[in-house]
Amino acid sequence: MSGIPYAEVIGDPIAQSKSPLIHDFWLEALGLTGRYERHHVRPGDLAAYIDARRGDSDWRGCNVTMPHKAAVMDLVEDPGDVRGTIGAMNTVVRQPDGRLIGTNTDAAGFFAPLAELDLEGAPVVVVGAGGAARAVLFALARAKVGSVTILNRSPLKAMGLLAAFGLKGEALALDAPLPPAALLVNASSLGMSGQPPLDLDLAPLPGDAIVYDLVYSPLQTGLLAAAEARGLETVDGLDMLIGQAALAFELFFGAAPPEGRDDELRALLTA
Ligand code: NAP
Repeated sequence: MSGIPYAEVIGDPIAQSKSPLIHDFWLEALGLTGRYERHHVRPGDLAAYIDARRGDSDWRGCNVTMPHKAAVMDLVEDPGDVRGTIGAMNTVVRQPDGRLIGTNTDAAGFFAPLAELDLEGAPVVVVGAGGAARAVLFALARAKVGSVTILNRSPLKAMGLLAAFGLKGEALALDAPLPPAALLVNASSLGMSGQPPLDLDLAPLPGDAIVYDLVYSPLQTGLLAAAEARGLETVDGLDMLIGQAALAFELFFGAAPPEGRDDELRALLTA
């Protein structure tokens, strides 16, 4: 132990993670002593990794990415009932007494760019029903949105999510026409590099609708290009990536990220 606080991001694979760039940028901008590193953890090694870090007082915690977001819930404390709500953890924080608390900062990170809007009662469309969609639906339920239409390859799975989050609405196949909505969120892998595109006809959306794509590789997805061509407001996946990291950073290092530096950070992340 060196006495220098550090945090990590763990996953399998992990080389692609942009989290170290974000946390290092903030540590340097604030002049804080600390490190944030990638650590490759294979599924069979997760329990041993958590056990080893539990006794390391320099370790402040870790961000958790694929494929460990569900498995880690069996290894840490869950005072906020993340298991019973979002159903996946993306952050583990070590307490000074060695207790490990799991949480999820994706839902709040997703909602951060929408926080100024009044979405109460507003109709929303969400594409996808995987882990990211769960965080999105959790946040939307808390914002008391109106009816939610989920478009997904397997509508049955999407139907289960509506029930799980107490949302009214319907689950439809991906080729169903869009209903008019105040907000359209892509929480599926469609449009991501190496994945099929997300082809939606945006014509039914009103002129003041917001189109939010969680995909950040590429940053300018076909969906966002189509929305911009229609003059709609857009939010890209880096906003959520930075938003979820900001909450984790404060939990790890005890300070909020610097204000007014997001443009610099975005430039670094897209260089
Ligand atoms: P996931 O749990 O694997 O879910 C993937 C979703 O995409 C599922 O709904 C799946 O449909 C659908 N899908 C995948 N391949 C498809 C295909 N070929 N055709 C039709 N549907 C397909 O993944 P996730 O963790 O939710 O991530 C989803 C996306 O969100 C990824 O692009 C990820 O990078 C992004 N994300 C971004 C952030 C951020 O901070 N910006 C955070 C988390 C995730 P089925 O349900 O039918 O399988």
